[in-house]
Amino acid sequence: MTATDRATAFLTIDVDAVTANWRRLRDVVGPQAEAAGVVKADCYGLGMDRIAPALAAAGCRTFFVATIDEGLALRKAVPKGAILVLDGPLPGTCGDFVAHGLTPVLNSPEQIGQWAGYASATGKVLDAALHLDTGMSRLGLDAEAVARLAEDVSLLAGINPVLVMSHMACADEQGHGKNSEQLAAFTLLSRHLNLPARKSLGASSAIFLGPGYHFDLVRPGAALYGLNPVPGQPNPMAPAVRLQARILQVRDVDTPMTVGYGATHQIVRKGRLAVVAAGYADGLFRSLGNRGFGFIEGERVPVVGRISMDLTTFDVSGLAPEIVRPGALIDLISPDHTADDLAAEAGTIGYEILTALGRRHHRVYEGGAA
Ligand SMILES: *Cc1c(COP(=O)(O)O)cnc(C)c1O
Repeated sequence: MTATDRATAFLTIDVDAVTANWRRLRDVVGPQAEAAGVVKADCYGLGMDRIAPALAAAGCRTFFVATIDEGLALRKAVPKGAILVLDGPLPGTCGDFVAHGLTPVLNSPEQIGQWAGYASATGKVLDAALHLDTGMSRLGLDAEAVARLAEDVSLLAGINPVLVMSHMACADEQGHGKNSEQLAAFTLLSRHLNLPARKSLGASSAIFLGPGYHFDLVRPGAALYGLNPVPGQPNPMAPAVRLQARILQVRDVDTPMTVGYGATHQIVRKGRLAVVAAGYADGLFRSLGNRGFGFIEGERVPVVGRISMDLTTFDVSGLAPEIVRPGALIDLISPDHTADDLAAEAGTIGYEILTALGRRHHRVYEGGAA
């Protein structure tokens, strides 16, 4: 018996689609700017070990992760190439950054002090990125901290600033007024700092706001993995994910039966149900209960009742029994019904769907390095 025989759900990841998406974004920004790759959260749940080396082979030279541990894991998968760690250094970790060639993103005066202190203690000049807050009120130096740095360059002694970056709040809404506000704030603050560093403002969606938002480097994540960077418009990215779950049982039902926990779906006429082997432990959000859809042989079938931990039930009334039989697969994410579509049904975003996919699926990687 093979792992494929045993598998109850399949997550197929098209690594070539991810690298094709990276090339497409690189071509959109053109030779003036570099396209980096954001591979945090295990490449948004899709597998950094498999995807990051393929991106490197395609020509990606700069990678972003969130945590130090992600950076250490990435360094094993990608021996060359810049790795920037968005969370920055935690106390006691500066030595790990240096030993593994990781570049911290310095988000606060405290992190700058820590990195400068380590540089001075070791007598080295150390690369770092500086993160400016231009409207997220999340990580990054505010205008006051930027002014202090501009006044007192000794605060950056021992630090070689390789990148000055910021992050946008509303880039996925092309007409949002905050976009030009953040662009102006970033331009002003980075001029005020006046460091000999490259500049970066945009992630996936900002790439499609036009060249004014590209600066020297763009930081796409979501678009690499096929999520739509321009919601409301046709998706320019290639789909990279397919999620399928096996039908365990097909049953005939009739009124007055109910389906699942809480008896939230009432059967009102004769029909048939298919029960598949995937539930919220596999990343099918509970909010998809009575709201989500699957596809079988191109036919759309609705989720009925609540999503259980390991099982989901679809109404397959009217579909041919040859199609809907135990062992057949129902598509949960496919080109017909993307992670963005499933997200809309679940009341969330594609990012959360991908990063919540879970560890239980049988993973199949297509393309990329062997
Ligand atoms: C996650 C992240 C990105 C990537 O964003 P996408 O919308 O997935 O392209 C870029 N920059 C920063 C600072 C991030 O946190």
